[in-house]
Amino acid sequence: MDLYEYQAKHLFDSHGIPVTPGEVCTTPGAAHEAARKIGAAVVVKAQVKTGGRGKAGGVKLAATPQEAQDRAEDILGLDISGHVVRRVLVTQATDIAEEYYVSFLLDRANRAFLAMASVEGGVDIEEVAATRPEALALVRIDAIDGVDAEVAGRIVEAAGFPANIRDQVVAILLNLWTVMVAEDATLVEVNPLVLSTDGTVLALDGKVTLDDNANYRHASHADLVDRDATDPIELRAQALDLNYVKLEGEVGIVGNGAGLVMSTLDVVAYAGEAFGGVRPANFLDIGGGASAEVMSNGLDIVLNDPEVLAVFVNVFGGITACDAVANGIVQAVDMLAARGEPITKPIVCRIDGNNAPEGRRILTDFGHPLVEMVETMDEAARRVAELAAERRAGSAS
Ligand code: GDP
Ligand code: MN
Repeated sequence: MDLYEYQAKHLFDSHGIPVTPGEVCTTPGAAHEAARKIGAAVVVKAQVKTGGRGKAGGVKLAATPQEAQDRAEDILGLDISGHVVRRVLVTQATDIAEEYYVSFLLDRANRAFLAMASVEGGVDIEEVAATRPEALALVRIDAIDGVDAEVAGRIVEAAGFPANIRDQVVAILLNLWTVMVAEDATLVEVNPLVLSTDGTVLALDGKVTLDDNANYRHASHADLVDRDATDPIELRAQALDLNYVKLEGEVGIVGNGAGLVMSTLDVVAYAGEAFGGVRPANFLDIGGGASAEVMSNGLDIVLNDPEVLAVFVNVFGGITACDAVANGIVQAVDMLAARGEPITKPIVCRIDGNNAPEGRRILTDFGHPLVEMVETMDEAARRVAELAAERRAGSAS
């Protein structure tokens, strides 16, 4: 999960990294009030999860509360690279002497972490890396040893920070590393880290990516989720503990096991080419159990996606044998009907593996007009793509 700047700076602050005081506002009036409370010149900053806000007109200085209100008025509602601004951060303005860059990130390929630092910050760091690689120091961080004062000193040295601010930058790097470890982040970036005209070094911007796999040990991270910006179907799937990712196609996918679901997406996309580019609408792994309840939750999620025109249930019976899976599908369809939401979209089922003949017999005997059983995965993919294409043609005419 990527955090907003104000959330990142809040984490920085709680780990002792100097930031300017500020407040998040959703209205120009609130920006006026926030600036009045700060009682000094402020910066009004668009809170969107994309870089280059400055260049896009999303970062503006304001000398008075009235100016802060006017700038908030300009920035709220702005579209920055497809992200509409709903919130602004009103924060005390800093007189900048120098702009630097520092970050830590997970370096998967090298099974380590990487520190990046430059005294040429404030600008697009990808561009510095591409055009002036010698200006960007890269220091490998051992995953076990981490960052101590000696390693932080080496980063400062490699980037060429001035001697008079060395200790401040070392302290910030140590605290930034604490954010990385204590919060289970895969990226922490400060661009710009600035030297103010009064001689202090502080973080003026912040980018943090948290590792969602560690959410179980960070109850507080749940509060950082931006529920307004998350797909509503994904939110419901999360609440049901289902592994769901929304995609942009028409064929709903329900499968058991991440590998099987991934290959199902491939065969559906491939089969769909023959039907005018029908594509999978989602990834949904209901896990090994595939009980009736989990199956009905899964079908419910997928069928409720308005983009879905047909569903492909692809299950390989293992510990849960195919007859149990087939009963799960039957019960799921019945459960939905009993809830007053009978299925209206065709479901193509392919079940194979342990006790497959019995499972297929159960589905055939079910005899529901919208539930079809197809023996092979490729055939089932072709059939579901065909059904989705028919429905698309039907709704278009
Ligand atoms: P980004 O463009 O999305 O990375 O947003 P930043 O928060 O990094 O701000 C962009 C630029 O605005 C910075 O590099 C600074 O040059 C400028 N800026 C941000 N905050 C201040 C401030 O408090 N005072 C001054 N003078 N400039 C600022
Ligand atoms: Mn920045």
